[in-house]
Amino acid sequence: MPASATSPSPRTIADRYAEVVARVSDAAHAAGRDPAEVRVLVATKTQDADAVREVVAAGATLIGENRVQELTAKADAIADLVAAGAVTVHLIGPLQRNKVNPVLATATGVESVDSLALAQALSSRCVRDARTLDVMVQVNVSGEATKSGTTPDDAPDLALAVATLPGLRLTGFMTIGAHTRDAATVRAGFARLRGVRDAVAASGAPGTEHARELSMGMSSDLELAVGEGATVVRVGTAVFGARPPA
Ligand SMILES: *Cc1c(COP(=O)(O)O)cnc(C)c1O
Repeated sequence: MPASATSPSPRTIADRYAEVVARVSDAAHAAGRDPAEVRVLVATKTQDADAVREVVAAGATLIGENRVQELTAKADAIADLVAAGAVTVHLIGPLQRNKVNPVLATATGVESVDSLALAQALSSRCVRDARTLDVMVQVNVSGEATKSGTTPDDAPDLALAVATLPGLRLTGFMTIGAHTRDAATVRAGFARLRGVRDAVAASGAPGTEHARELSMGMSSDLELAVGEGATVVRVGTAVFGARPPA
């Protein structure tokens, strides 16, 4: 973007967050959708608590951590924001059954449920604590071996099973788009997730009445995802700049 490249002062997190919100809004309008249907989840991995506070001050209300250890490490430093209801935290990365407790201490949603065993572990803990956790089933729409998630074929059955578990509210589905510059391939994957969501929602099965969300689209492909019906886009790089290589 030439205008910002020549701007006299470096762009702040608030500037970049506003740009992302504008991108989402433009993409929604282009798809004939209401921008209010799409929430921005800010992926805060590798960012410290001050950066999290900065983006929340800029208007972010939903953040996502993809590593349990990072989520717990930042929990105390943002506890006041969470307690005040200023921000909601979702886990968006892999979760092992023995790490459920620290996640539940801060997160109100887990978007990365990819097995019934994990869902059952979350469910029993929530029942014990008399609380409800929002969960999404993560689906690997691209079939890439590096990506977590259940297959699109197995996703409906897993979702129906998760939907019946006490203490969990199935809110929808999450995916990470195909790692390719080919827009048609990326779009087809997002459309596949929408197909899974539509089938589960249309089933009318117990516990599926809230399963409307599609968490898909990141910094590089959020326009495609919004075009295919995303209700949550998860954005890191576009807000914070490039991360150092892992
Ligand atoms: C890091 C991350 C994102 C954001 O990716 P960017 O390309 O930095 O926007 C989204 N989803 C998940 C699961 C992530 O780990």
